[in-house]
Amino acid sequence: MDMELKKVGDLEFPPRKVWMKTYGCQMNYHDSERILSHLSNLNFTATAEQSEADLVIFNTCAVRDLANQKFYSHLGETKKLKTHPDINPETGMKKDVIVAAGGCIAQTEGKDLITKYKQLDFAFGTDVIDNIGEMVYRAYAGEKKFSVTSWDRSENYSIETKITQGSPQAYVNIIKGCDKFCSYCIVPFTRGREKSRRLTEIVTDVKRLVEYSGVQEIMLLGQNVNSFGKDNNESLAQLILELDQINGLERLRYTTSHPYDVTDELIAAHAQAKKLVNHLHLPVQSGSNTVLQRMLREYTVEHYLTLLEKMRKANPEMIITTDIIAGFPNETEEEHLETMKLLDLAQYDFIYGYTFSQRKGTKAARMSDVLTDDIRLRRLREIQDKQLFIQGKIRQEMIGKNYRILVEDKGINKGITKWTGRTSCNRIVHFEPLTLEQDYKWHWVDVEITSATALSTQGRFVRDHGKRPL
Ligand code: SF4
Repeated sequence: MDMELKKVGDLEFPPRKVWMKTYGCQMNYHDSERILSHLSNLNFTATAEQSEADLVIFNTCAVRDLANQKFYSHLGETKKLKTHPDINPETGMKKDVIVAAGGCIAQTEGKDLITKYKQLDFAFGTDVIDNIGEMVYRAYAGEKKFSVTSWDRSENYSIETKITQGSPQAYVNIIKGCDKFCSYCIVPFTRGREKSRRLTEIVTDVKRLVEYSGVQEIMLLGQNVNSFGKDNNESLAQLILELDQINGLERLRYTTSHPYDVTDELIAAHAQAKKLVNHLHLPVQSGSNTVLQRMLREYTVEHYLTLLEKMRKANPEMIITTDIIAGFPNETEEEHLETMKLLDLAQYDFIYGYTFSQRKGTKAARMSDVLTDDIRLRRLREIQDKQLFIQGKIRQEMIGKNYRILVEDKGINKGITKWTGRTSCNRIVHFEPLTLEQDYKWHWVDVEITSATALSTQGRFVRDHGKRPL
């Protein structure tokens, strides 16, 4: 139908479907949303069914081994989209599907991917996602097998946040890249050097999201988010205090922080800013100073613990979560026990624990190493078991208290319908609705916690504030 065609340049774009798979961190999810938004200009809408797709995009992650393996396995499966001999329109399998890979793996291995995987039409890096429309255009214009992995060399970093879903939560990227070069991490190679947006641009961006898109909760994003503004003589604390003034914005979060860049000014902002949540994710990675040195983390355990103490003094409601790597190259049993001890001292609400895995091109990948997978897994289990014990005790203290949650979704477990939301401190709470017909999606609801274990928190419905908190 002509009405539905969109003319762009020399090509006509009929309505088409794009299927996207995103791996890894929130930054990748943020990038995926940008990509979808750009593609809507070429008449694409998103589909959850790969078999319906005209365009298949993988937004890859190079940080975690598991995400890496999943991507290669999913990419392998797309071969059939191009080579199926009996393509039948009724099956929904389309002959002329375009397959693309973007993100961190594509940034460092774009050309190799294109050569190795016949089904891949193009690859694109992390710094060119705003040119996705141009690349898709080139593919539809008949250009075959290309890779775009250049870096944006401009001095300024200026974007406008794109959102595609009508959710009151939005990611807002405020700084890209990372200058830290931790010895195990591939991010500085896949995301480039740090570059911050200007504070005034972000404030305008957030005001627009709140006023015109109904956004109420913002997550400020960056690989090293609290390094924001160093290049412009601005700071994350200043930005938080400005955003805190925006009417209609209810909650403000930020991730991921580096302990080296937690300043007294930022700690003070946690006491001052009313909309800033009572949660800080502060990756420690190890409880051993000697391991931290080998990781090139630029802080000591003592400094880290002092930061937690100051944060909790500034805001006694503050809960802290962290990342820990078990079995860094040549980690001794004593060094591992120092991490176990840190868990007691830090009293984390939650940890993301991983075993060390080598990332090609990093310093840690060149370290000779005596540890086996069995040792790494055993140490991770010990860390997780201890944390679950601590976490279970901390969560018990929630029982009997009221929390306001923003409800995100519902699910059915053993025939019982429960809605799920997050507290200001990012804890997930489940509650049963008063009636099954009641739709609480994106409502602000008060719940009283009735039971809590290390991994699950249940509440009793108290009050529904609707889509705007009272
Ligand atoms: S701070 Fe370290 S771990 Fe975090 S992104 Fe930068 S290099 Fe990677």
